[in-house]
Amino acid sequence: MIPGLNDRETRSLARLGISSVSDLLFWLPRWHLNRARITTFAEASEGERRFFLARIAHAGIFTRGRLHIIRLKLEDGTGQAQLYLFNRPYLASDYRAGRVIAICDAPDRTSSGLRFSGSPGTCEILSEEDARRITAGETVVFYRATTVIMQDRARAIAGAALSAGLPCLEETLPPELIERRGLATLASALAGAHRPASWAEWEKARRRLVFEQLFLLQVALGLNRMALARIRKPREYVLGGEKLAKVRSSLPFVLTRAQERAIQEVCDGLAGRSPMNRLLQGDVGSGKTVIAAAAVAVAADSGHQSAVMAPTEILAEQHLRTFTRLLAPAGIRVCMLASGQGRVERRQVLAGLAEGYFDLAVGTHALLEDDVVVPKLGLIVIDERHKFGVRQRARLEKKGRHPDVLMMTATPLPRALVLTQYGDTALSVLDEMPPGRGPVGTRWLHGAAGRAEAYRFVATRLAAGERAFAVFPLVGKSENLALRDATREYERLKKAFPAFNLGLIHGQMPGAEKERIMADFASGSLVMLVATTVVEVGIDMPDATVMLVEHANRFGLAQLHQLRGRIGRGTRESWCFLLTSGTVTTDARERLTAMVKTRDGFELAEKDLRIRGPGELFGIRQHGVMDPEYLDLMMDTGELEAARTEAEQFIAGDPDLASSEGKRIRDAIDKRLSEDWGLVRAS
Ligand code: ADP
Ligand code: MG
Repeated sequence: MIPGLNDRETRSLARLGISSVSDLLFWLPRWHLNRARITTFAEASEGERRFFLARIAHAGIFTRGRLHIIRLKLEDGTGQAQLYLFNRPYLASDYRAGRVIAICDAPDRTSSGLRFSGSPGTCEILSEEDARRITAGETVVFYRATTVIMQDRARAIAGAALSAGLPCLEETLPPELIERRGLATLASALAGAHRPASWAEWEKARRRLVFEQLFLLQVALGLNRMALARIRKPREYVLGGEKLAKVRSSLPFVLTRAQERAIQEVCDGLAGRSPMNRLLQGDVGSGKTVIAAAAVAVAADSGHQSAVMAPTEILAEQHLRTFTRLLAPAGIRVCMLASGQGRVERRQVLAGLAEGYFDLAVGTHALLEDDVVVPKLGLIVIDERHKFGVRQRARLEKKGRHPDVLMMTATPLPRALVLTQYGDTALSVLDEMPPGRGPVGTRWLHGAAGRAEAYRFVATRLAAGERAFAVFPLVGKSENLALRDATREYERLKKAFPAFNLGLIHGQMPGAEKERIMADFASGSLVMLVATTVVEVGIDMPDATVMLVEHANRFGLAQLHQLRGRIGRGTRESWCFLLTSGTVTTDARERLTAMVKTRDGFELAEKDLRIRGPGELFGIRQHGVMDPEYLDLMMDTGELEAARTEAEQFIAGDPDLASSEGKRIRDAIDKRLSEDWGLVRAS
């Protein structure tokens, strides 16, 4: 309970996960506004997020269909801009002519001038007093106000928490560390974040808070790494066995050097005494599957069973075929478990696994069910790792006794992520594509004319015997009438392409039907698949050369990159069309432009991280440090390396966090890292 709050306020804060004075201390302001940080409209660049301060010259309200729109004309003395607020009529009383507005957003340049998205969280009405203070050069803080707790009240509550909380606040970091790194103490950092007396004070506070977050994460990761290294796994592996040799000699291609290296690294990991925890990272199409197959062969050579988990049924089906093809020459027996399976079939598969008849179970989340028993489970492969949570991974691991884990992902890891999310994981990288791949071009086309152009192009490609995907964000009709969906578009496209056989595929179909459609697409009796994002990951169809993504602005960057990864797998030239219509937000523009500009998954991932923000990646449970205010510093590899060095040094001296300093660090980890980053993984 926090004293001095009424019930509604208490509930409102509880929804944000704040229930004590010490939680409140970490409810950090999301903006620190200062005259020196403000960009004028005249200096604004399209697509660059900055702070702006302006006066509302005119506010108009109108409706278009079911949309309620508030249109603001803004002036800041150097120029004008527009800002639209959609379907938030309750804002009309605040966003009036004459008032001062602060904006933190990336503007667009349209034919009618500078324009801001007006999305929630990007703008705020200022009191005259705040506006005056900023103009006078003070640093003014803004909280993530709620409908119950407005800005002034938020400041008052935070101020009260500071007075009540700071005197009894315990320092998290050891004093020598603070000294060595020239950091602020926790108490002065919190004071400096909530009530900065100067810009320099706030910057010092920010650095300390970010460092603390990174340090806690690195301690948690370091402990996990150590705990894992102490475990002795109850199994051994035979390297250089007969099955591996057979699998290798029956491959229809020559492995790339990167693949050879990865196989070697996986073998070394399996040969180790503690369980392998390895991430294989390679861009879409780099050939990860065969590495997993080699690992399964080594396990089979050694008498251990394996499991391969994939995020969708379609991908699991494909894996069943691919692994069977790759492993059958060595007599390795593969089965599949998916939720769409019939009872009888499932029972047979389960019995075969339990008896040790099958060497490999390929499956979806269905592998996690309690009745799945794999007595000799030694190796777990998680394909498209980013599609699974920590908990799902843990459940699969429980099926074996400290199994070896190989995770695979096409999402490249920026250095910042390697040091954080995967700080306790060994890495193998496929940095080389198999030879003979055709080029892939990408275009972003807007509006009906763009779509027509793309469709004309598709027709010529289909006529040349190639295949295409058309991906939609929805399966069927939705509330939002402006959105095209796969089911209705399928009917329309069939008429638009009468000379060709089209298929429809989405996640809500029965498994058998999906299987049939994919098989028909593979064989060429269907030449175009109208689909949802069920085809996003893993699908490997070398004859597909065109990818159309409708409403491409609604997809994330990683998703778009994955979708584009479905083409360009054969020797022919491929094309990806990103289609949009209507309004495209600044963020979406950034994503689409990035897609057109580069195919480099690594570059796209860096960009994605910046657009999405650091929350999920840095294990942040609470609000404050999640805001863009902290992002650049969070991703600063220098700070990250420093935090890791300090964490390692600390753990070396106190591996059980048993000292009083260690206990405080443990407490902070429990409180401030999201659950997935707590110490759960070590146990
Ligand atoms: P991803 O890394 O995206 O999972 P896959 O494992 O699906 O990639 O492989 C993509 C395609 O490349 C498959 O058709 C596979 O057979 C092929 N492939 C894999 N390795 C090689 C290689 N060394 N040479 C030629 N083709 C390869
Ligand atoms: Mg794959």
